[in-house]
Amino acid sequence: MKSSKLKFWKHWAAGAAMCSLLAAPVAAQQLYVFTSGSLGGFAKAAFQAGAQGTIEWSPVSFYVYKHPKGNVMFDTGNNDKTIADAAAWWGPLAKGFGLKMTKDDAIPAQLAKIGLKTSDIKYVVVGHLHLDHGGNIGQFPNATLIVQDQEVQAAVTPDIGFSVYYIPGDFADMKNQNVLKLNGDLDLFGDGSFRVISAPGHTKGSQFAVARLPKTGSVIMTSDVVYLKENLDKNLIPGIPGVSNPIDAYKSYQRIRHIRDTENAKIFYGHDPEIFKATKLAPEFYD
Ligand SMILES: [Zn+2]
Repeated sequence: MKSSKLKFWKHWAAGAAMCSLLAAPVAAQQLYVFTSGSLGGFAKAAFQAGAQGTIEWSPVSFYVYKHPKGNVMFDTGNNDKTIADAAAWWGPLAKGFGLKMTKDDAIPAQLAKIGLKTSDIKYVVVGHLHLDHGGNIGQFPNATLIVQDQEVQAAVTPDIGFSVYYIPGDFADMKNQNVLKLNGDLDLFGDGSFRVISAPGHTKGSQFAVARLPKTGSVIMTSDVVYLKENLDKNLIPGIPGVSNPIDAYKSYQRIRHIRDTENAKIFYGHDPEIFKATKLAPEFYD
């Protein structure tokens, strides 16, 4: 083949490769939504002081955010040990909150839905260390755990009346983990794509996350900074032990509303049944 012809085919091949890339763009970031089993059959007043009625079914939301610089897990659900015996790990709360877990809810089984193993997670960010959010941090010994300094203190040495939602076994291995303790906000990758924002009130060291996606835009993951959409819309907060400081809880609501309104952000709540039912679940994703 003459060299001019060869050049032509080399250019053609390069162009075709480029076109195929353009034809099937893969977004740089994706967000996957999961639930760690479910809760149900408990008084709505647990989520909203003075509320009447019963929460019949509630998700226990957690998320995986895929970023070119590493996979992030936000919240970790209920400890997988509750699958075999919920009451043994959660005590009376297992019945009280109607905890339901099956073997398909185990963290390795959930991550397998999106082709990941626990060792593929680089950062584990927890909204706080309550039993339904920090339950599985011990399954990620090689990840960096990102938590507010205040939350570690609140969990390890809880104030009187606030120990009920913390299970020491959930975070017993934390001393062997690489823990990034925050005193405020963090732009995780330095590109604004995943922000961790301090928002005390539910607990002393609560935080929420904001992921920015190429197509969907900003998505706020509240953890328990807000339990239900109605709480945020009507400015309703829980009572003790669902709130550790009501004034801070209201300020944190304000901060979430500000981001929602300025960025036209979508909100995924910690335990809202209706919003969750309208959400795409893994292996589907938001990009
Ligand atoms: Zn909580």
